[in-house]
Amino acid sequence: MIALRKSVEVIPRGGAQSELVDHDTGLTLTVEGFSLDGDSAAALRALGLLEEEGLSLAEVRERQRPVRLEALASQRLEQWRELIAFAAAKVPFYRERSAQYDADALETLDDVAALPLMRKADVRANFPGGLVAEGIDVGKGIEGGNLELAGSSGTTEERLQVVSDLELTSMPDDFEALWHLPETDATPRTAVLTSPTCMGTQCHLGLAPYENRLRQQYTLFLNSTPDLFTTPKSTLENVAEELGRFGADMLLVNPVYLHWFARRCRELNVALPRPRIVLSCYQYLTRFSRRAITELLGVPVYDYYGSTDLGGARTAVECDRGRLHVREDHVSVEVLGKDGPKAPGELGALAVTALANRVMPLVRYLVGDVGKLVEKSCDCLLSDWACLELHGRSKDMLQLNGGWVTTRMVDDALSKVSGIDFYRVDQTGASELRVQAVPSLERSFDPREVEGTLREALKVGTVRVDTVKRLEPEPSLKYRLTECKVAQPPELP
Ligand SMILES: [Zn+2]
Repeated sequence: MIALRKSVEVIPRGGAQSELVDHDTGLTLTVEGFSLDGDSAAALRALGLLEEEGLSLAEVRERQRPVRLEALASQRLEQWRELIAFAAAKVPFYRERSAQYDADALETLDDVAALPLMRKADVRANFPGGLVAEGIDVGKGIEGGNLELAGSSGTTEERLQVVSDLELTSMPDDFEALWHLPETDATPRTAVLTSPTCMGTQCHLGLAPYENRLRQQYTLFLNSTPDLFTTPKSTLENVAEELGRFGADMLLVNPVYLHWFARRCRELNVALPRPRIVLSCYQYLTRFSRRAITELLGVPVYDYYGSTDLGGARTAVECDRGRLHVREDHVSVEVLGKDGPKAPGELGALAVTALANRVMPLVRYLVGDVGKLVEKSCDCLLSDWACLELHGRSKDMLQLNGGWVTTRMVDDALSKVSGIDFYRVDQTGASELRVQAVPSLERSFDPREVEGTLREALKVGTVRVDTVKRLEPEPSLKYRLTECKVAQPPELP
C-alpha cells in the first residue's frame, strides 16, 4: 500500500493546491492536485516522502537535499538584497559608496562576488559613525541590554571595536537535539571562560563581583587570569565555586584556558562542576585540547566558530558528527583567493557577511582566517548547511617548500604524537622549526617523536624541540600556535 511517511502533512491551500510539509526535515512543497497515483507517487518517493521499509531519516534528507538547497539559495539571494538595500540606505559607509552597493544589481548569488571586500582597516577607520546604522541609539541599547560594545582582542595596532547585537548571539534552532541536550523551554545557562582582556562592559579580571558578571541571568563571565600557566589555586577554587552556584549547562571557552584550568584542578584536587557540553570559541581548538578537555571533564566538546568583529553573529557550529557547519541562518561565508572565489575543497581567506545584522552590518568582511568549504554530505540535523574546514589565522601560516602551511596542517601532523598538552611551533628558518611543548601529565613524551613526525609530515629539514613548563601569550593574552618568523604571511586575497 502506498502511504505518506507519518511526519508528512498535507495541508489544503484552496483550489487544487496543497502544501506538503515534512516535519522531520523541514521540507515544504506546494503541489497541484495532490494524489498518490502513478507519476505522483514516483515523484513523492524520489523525495523520500513515502513510507518505505528500511528508509532512514538520513536517506530522506539525502533525497530532499537538492530541492532544499535550491530553496535555500533563493532565500539567500533575497537576504543579500535586503541587507545591501538596508546598508545603502541607512549606513553612512555604504551610502557614500552606493554605486558599489546596489541591491538591484544582485540578480544571482554569483553577483555577490562583485561587491567590495572589507578589511579591518575599514572598520577601524569608520567606527562608529560610519558603520552603525542610523536610528540605532547605542547608549540606550547598551543600557537596555540589547547591544554591547565589544572589542576584538588583537595586538594594539589591530584592536577593533564593534557594536554587538545581542539578539544575534543566540543558539541555532534545535541546538538541544543537535548536541543531545535535554529538551526544555528554559534558556540554557552559559558560563564563559576566556582570556582576561576587558571587552567593553565585560571585564574578566576578577575586579567585579559575581552579580556584575552575570548578564540577564543566563550568561556568567567567569574570572580569568592574566598569566594562565601560573594561575593560583584560589582562582581555580573561585571558578569551581561559581560554576556550581550558577549551574552552567554550557561552557563557552577559549580552549587553552579551560584545558589548563581543568588540568590544574585535577592536579590540585579541586572539583570542577561539569557542564553538559563545552563550546570552544575564541581561538583554534587543537586536537590535544579537544581530547584532554573531553577526558578531564567527561563531556563532549564542540567547535563554535565566530568572530567578535562580526558583532555577535556566529559563523559556524559543529554537529555531533564532528563537522563544522556554516550557520546559514546568520551568515554567508565565502572562500577567496587572490583571483576571486575558490572552488569547494580549495583553501582561501574567509570573507563573512552577517546577513541578519541591522546594527553594524559588515559586508564581505575578511575575518583574518583561512579555510575551505568542503562538499561533504553530513546526515546530521544541519545537513543543508555547508561544511567548513577551519585552518586558523592567515597570519599564522608557515611557509615551507614554496607553499603555505596552515595551523590546522601543523596541528593535524602533531596530533599523531602522544604526550603533549600545549605547544607552539615557530618557523625560524627556510626549512627550520622550533617547537615548544608542554608535556601532558599522564602520557609519556618523547621530543624525538615530535622531531621525526614533523620532519616527515611537513618535509622540513630541522626541527628543534624544547620541553617547557609554560608558553608565553600574545599581547591579546591568547596563545598563538604557529608563527612564521622569517617571511610575511601572504596577501590573501
Ligand atoms: Zn553535520
